[in-house]
Amino acid sequence: MRRTAHIRRPGGLRIPTALAVAVMSAALCGCGGAGGEPYTGELFAMDTFMRLSAYGQAAEDAVRAASDEIARLDAMWSVTDADSEIYALNSFGSAAVSPETLEIIAYAASVSGETGGALDITVYPAVRAWGFTTDEYRVPGEGELREIAPLVNYRAVKTDGNTTALAPGAAVDFGALAKGYASQRAAEIFREHGVESGIVSLGGNVQTVGRKPDGSPWNVAIQDPEDSGRYAGTLKTQDAAVVTSGVYQRYFESGGKLYHHIIDPSTLRPADSGLLSATVVAENGALADALSTALFVLGRESAETYWRNSGRDFDMILITETGEVVITEGIADAYTHENTDRTLAVLAVP
Ligand code: AMP
Ligand code: MG
Repeated sequence: MRRTAHIRRPGGLRIPTALAVAVMSAALCGCGGAGGEPYTGELFAMDTFMRLSAYGQAAEDAVRAASDEIARLDAMWSVTDADSEIYALNSFGSAAVSPETLEIIAYAASVSGETGGALDITVYPAVRAWGFTTDEYRVPGEGELREIAPLVNYRAVKTDGNTTALAPGAAVDFGALAKGYASQRAAEIFREHGVESGIVSLGGNVQTVGRKPDGSPWNVAIQDPEDSGRYAGTLKTQDAAVVTSGVYQRYFESGGKLYHHIIDPSTLRPADSGLLSATVVAENGALADALSTALFVLGRESAETYWRNSGRDFDMILITETGEVVITEGIADAYTHENTDRTLAVLAVP
């Protein structure tokens, strides 16, 4: 029997996270044992449907604990929930924050520094101006963006002890790496429970623990950004995060133009880097998520330069507007090219 708990998102409304988890706990069936079926939980958090599956005796406890942890992070980091740490920080310009918040801010700052600010958590006022926070999409005027520009500067986020402070008028959002941080925590909790085989899927973020129970690697699909019914490719992985940032994940149309949700901090407009999607494969989910956003903003050439020179251990799959799929050598054997309308190029380590 398949053990699954379902949470539906009624009419597209946000479900308060605590409620979502309560519903999930009530709906999870405690059946099964160490048999061949996974224990699966689903929840809605971080504006995303999430699905966590684990195998083995500890599966149920592990899935419940990981789901609770994700809900806790979501409650801390929601930009819209008046009880969240980030809401307080954005409202008052300064707030005492938890160690996890200090950690994710420091993590984001290091990736921002390495990518010339392509990732920048202070880009949030621009994200809000485009309506991506509330789903009330709009194209902001030149003047409005010009006023926001001085607020976008990750270097102006200061930490003193457990207090974080922003420049006046600035605001932050961890949307570019929170899911990766959460999937990393979920994988750690699985391992702490002794789970040797599991997979968490948080929207475009997939993180695997071990291999499938039959010993074969997990197979993660890479969405074709221009055809929702098709995969660009599939990737065999184990103990890795596979995170994609893509134009198709959140966007709106206005005046015949498509505007997606990944904002270039240097223009405060949807990044126009020549990429349709950037997928990062790394052991650490937070790194994979931070880099997926940053490399999308950087575009193919700069992403390749970063891959060669950063000293970070990761692989990537870039899908370009010109129909190319560019992958790095480390995953060449694990990648199956499914959409052969696209050409495949492999970046080799010299
Ligand atoms: P991701 O899907 O991981 O690429 O993250 C995109 C989300 O992060 C958006 O929905 C925004 O909330 C936020 N965001 C957009 N652009 C950036 C950026 N350049 N740096 C940091 N956060 C961003
Ligand atoms: Mg990201």
